[in-house]
Amino acid sequence: MNRPPVTKYIKPKHIKDYPVGPSFRAGYLTSDNSGWRTVRPIIDQDLCIGCQQCYLCCPEGVIYPKEGKVDIDYDFCKGCGICGKICNHKAIQFIKENK
Ligand code: SF4
Ligand code: SF4
Repeated sequence: MNRPPVTKYIKPKHIKDYPVGPSFRAGYLTSDNSGWRTVRPIIDQDLCIGCQQCYLCCPEGVIYPKEGKVDIDYDFCKGCGICGKICNHKAIQFIKENK
């Protein structure tokens, strides 16, 4: 994956330190962005045929080709379910988070 690096947000200590424009420098993420996901897609690599339909349809761009099949960057997957709907081979199932 070619994502911007995650960098720590340093809270300004004084009003003078607050930026006038955007709060963060461009080109960085301030945190992983999957904290509110309630379900997690799991790819069954035996059922996956590597058609990459899920890769093309993921709105977050977090599915990526890997060794002829696909994998998911869980740090940024939102659990929207689209990949599971799009897969004609039922290779993506969802489990509840924290299970
Ligand atoms: S859509 Fe299904 S079969 Fe195709 S690459 Fe994704 S998981 Fe594999
Ligand atoms: S659940 Fe949504 S965000 Fe996560 S990999 Fe599937 S399509 Fe992408």
